Amino acid sequence: MAPDARPADLLVIAATRPWTCAECSTEFDRGSFLTMEDAGPVCTVCADLVHLEFLPRGDAALTRRARGQSRLSAVVVRWSRSRRRYERQGILAETDAIEQAERECLADAAARERRRQREVLRRVEQDERFVADLTEAIRARFPGCPADRAARIARHAGERSSGRIGRTRAGRALDPEAVRLAVAAAIRHEDTPYDELLMSGHARSDARELVRQEVARVLDGWRAGPVS
Ligand SMILES: [Zn+2]
Repeated sequence: MAPDARPADLLVIAATRPWTCAECSTEFDRGSFLTMEDAGPVCTVCADLVHLEFLPRGDAALTRRARGQSRLSAVVVRWSRSRRRYERQGILAETDAIEQAERECLADAAARERRRQREVLRRVEQDERFVADLTEAIRARFPGCPADRAARIARHAGERSSGRIGRTRAGRALDPEAVRLAVAAAIRHEDTPYDELLMSGHARSDARELVRQEVARVLDGWRAGPVS
């Protein structure tokens, strides 16, 4: 084996029954760690592994980092009687390496959280700019529309539910027809009995037809300019 190649994993076994160290003759309970040597089971003190800390399995990134940074590490397995095979329990690694790995994993999580917050902020800023731009577009095309109405229509259009013009490409581009539709919809709901017609059982197309002239009248008035 090349000197820089990673040696095969040291294997440590979590005992499933009481045992005695082949070197120091200390008796151990089940659950304690041992390594198998030619002479038999050897305790972690005798095997010079006692300075290592047990890191239970469950966090792959943490385990990988801890092993990568530990000068000495071992894989801990335990015999499963029901499955009739050794199963990984975790690793033994230097405490410093485990702590460093924990810090790196936390830093990763914190970095992900910061990135998520930046993205939320960017979306909010984009939405605010869209609402401001749409308000301006409404005021330009419908100078008679009161400023607070224009702002309210733009805010509504920019809300995140689907179907609003703020969610469509034409709306995003402040296409004149999209602007007109947003304003017309607002007039229909606020300045005509359209909603009441719907509530009283009129079909949508009928209700729209009934208020069409009223909507057109308000649109024309707003297009003409402020009432002097
Ligand atoms: Zn021993």
